[in-house]
Amino acid sequence: MPAATGAKADQETGGEVVDSFRIGDIRVSRIEEWQGTFAPPDYLFQGFEVAAWQCHEEQFVPEFFDPASGKLFAFLQSWVLDTGRRRILFDTGAGNDKDRPNLPVFGNLQTDFLQRLARAGYQPGDIDVVVCSHIHVDHVGWNTRLIDGVWQPTFRNARYVLPAADRDYWDPRMTTAGPGTIGTAVNAGMFEDSVRPIIEAGRAEWAYDGFEVAPGIVLHARPGHTPGSMVMEVSDGDDLALFVGDIMHHPAQIFRPDWNSIFCEDAEMARQSRRQVLEDAAVREALVVPAHFGGQHVVRVMREGAGFRPVLRPLADG
Ligand SMILES: [Zn+2]
Repeated sequence: MPAATGAKADQETGGEVVDSFRIGDIRVSRIEEWQGTFAPPDYLFQGFEVAAWQCHEEQFVPEFFDPASGKLFAFLQSWVLDTGRRRILFDTGAGNDKDRPNLPVFGNLQTDFLQRLARAGYQPGDIDVVVCSHIHVDHVGWNTRLIDGVWQPTFRNARYVLPAADRDYWDPRMTTAGPGTIGTAVNAGMFEDSVRPIIEAGRAEWAYDGFEVAPGIVLHARPGHTPGSMVMEVSDGDDLALFVGDIMHHPAQIFRPDWNSIFCEDAEMARQSRRQVLEDAAVREALVVPAHFGGQHVVRVMREGAGFRPVLRPLADG
């Protein structure tokens, strides 16, 4: 079974943050872009119930909840899957230099993401495939970078696999009225600076349910957070991992799959997809790799009664 290895991110120093683990013979490296306290739980979660939160809060301290500020910890992190033949980058964070008037926390970032990628052993030109779990401001950012005032593909040798249903939803040229949700505001400008340049460079490949990225690496449609949200299933030998993107933002949603984030576009579909993914992970004993979790950054899911619980930490006796 794959297990996360290496030290977790140092909250105080923001120290060395490259973790790695294996799925069979596939080496996976975590490339961190950002970490911080993001929002209080009663802001992030739709359907939040304080009594239910209080039942579990203690388990979330210190890696997943900061009692001092009352806010949830969040991370922006990408994953490089190295199969030996291909290098696949899953999700590309918020990116540098992006103008985000309605989401200033991820606006005009100047992070050393590419240096961190290099410390994990990869230059941008080494990436063969970029996969975006969905088209949202914090998952497509490093698709492009600003060179001489022009947004250009960061990973110049890569094909970019993006969900077709999200193109239809977010491309301002295809969506006449606009989705009209909080997503419309926070994602303003995102398509033009982080997706359009990929299309215009002829590097976009539009994914659908069952799309095969590489042998043993398949995308499954799990709509709701966005219409095109996808889970990437990776299997090699006896190992199985599910890269779930924003199917959940925080382990509280494993206890309470009915809690959506305020950024979920279709509430009921998001809940259905979350339950489906948790069920799948529990039954098949898959390692779950979410986009924004702190702690070990990966999690296992166990059935408990009619619901689920997360395994957030390694067993003390190893
Ligand atoms: Zn996200």
